[in-house]
Amino acid sequence: MKVPYFRPSLSENEIEAVTAVLRSGWLTSGPRAAEFEAAFSLAVGGRHALAVSSATAAMHLAVEALGLEPNQAVLVPTMTFAATAEVVRYMGGIPILVDCEPDTGNMDLQDALRKLKLANEGELPRKWPDTAGNRRTALKVVGIIPVHVGGLMMDTAAIRRFADDNDLWVVEDAAHAFPSAWRANGESDWKQCGQDTADVTCFSFYANKTITTGEGGMAVTASPAIEERMRCMALHGLSRDAWGRYSGGSWDYRIVAPGYKYNLTDIQAALGVEQLARAEAMRLARERQAERYYAELKGLPLSLPTRPGPDRRHSWHLFPIKLNLEDLSIDRDEFLDRLREGGVGFSVHWRPLHLHPYYQEVFGWDPDDLPIATREWVRLVSLPIFPSMSEAEQGHVVHVLREVLLGTAPR
Ligand SMILES: *Cc1c(COP(=O)(O)O)cnc(C)c1O
Repeated sequence: MKVPYFRPSLSENEIEAVTAVLRSGWLTSGPRAAEFEAAFSLAVGGRHALAVSSATAAMHLAVEALGLEPNQAVLVPTMTFAATAEVVRYMGGIPILVDCEPDTGNMDLQDALRKLKLANEGELPRKWPDTAGNRRTALKVVGIIPVHVGGLMMDTAAIRRFADDNDLWVVEDAAHAFPSAWRANGESDWKQCGQDTADVTCFSFYANKTITTGEGGMAVTASPAIEERMRCMALHGLSRDAWGRYSGGSWDYRIVAPGYKYNLTDIQAALGVEQLARAEAMRLARERQAERYYAELKGLPLSLPTRPGPDRRHSWHLFPIKLNLEDLSIDRDEFLDRLREGGVGFSVHWRPLHLHPYYQEVFGWDPDDLPIATREWVRLVSLPIFPSMSEAEQGHVVHVLREVLLGTAPR
């Protein structure tokens, strides 16, 4: 048996919805994109929602709308995907990498404060891309981009306090966090990720995310001004979008800024509307799979992911285990080879940014600058978790894992 790391969950409804768009004569951003935005807005407590071509696009638009300027600094977790930091570079900004909590993998706010001070003092990063040497110049830290790793939300109230104390904006990389939710201690009502948790919250609908449009994303904000700027910049900096122009709006648009091309097509949005309607059902399916992993992987030489407390609703985008390497005679990479031989798909989230050539060479980040991420990432393995994984498939994953771990002579 072979179990892929991920398989999208697509029903006849999605196929029919996309086919209907193909037959309609209107392919790009139009009525279905507007409908997707309206439905998504409802799902995140009525905040403004802008459908775009990716989460990366959403984050780029967000930092642009918030006014990020060249050589201003932004706190970014080192435990993330490339996109979180590269959008800072798009604007000429300097990502200041922050270490993670050992258990959740989420950004450590105490380290964020340490890194912020070092950046303010000109101590970090050691190099800037526009200087060859070790110039020490105080940087102005203007924002923070937290990531909810795997869909387990950080304490967004704590992030907000940290941001307010240090005069920062907050852009959430919520690529994993739909539909994730939280509630304050003792309260019964859930608040969705994106409902007042940041200045802008950015979701991903990439092929293997919790809901998908193939490629796609959504930017969510409570601010009409920020939404207006992002909407304008998402379509060439025109003062009207294509739908407005061609459906009774004026032909006479105005270019008000050199914008980007980040709109979501109706073909994709039709897929999104159907996926959104099934988002909670799919989350519950993943939650059941997570529970089965917790039950059946007990007692093995590995750490299971942090369980959400009663104040968190976990999207379960990822199920990242950590190998107890001191109890094993093989390392993580050999372990992954064994999984592959056993027909089990996997991924690793992630090689931290500071261990990539670009961030090492251009900014001079050192493994010891981010010791927790450096230590922990060599233990990480993300297991398959997706609604269309059958019980037999998950049984196979558990079986192969047990075989490899129990069949591996202890050190
Ligand atoms: C997938 C992912 C992104 C990028 O999403 P796209 O929609 O592909 O741009 C950004 N951040 C994180 C943490 C991700 O996992």
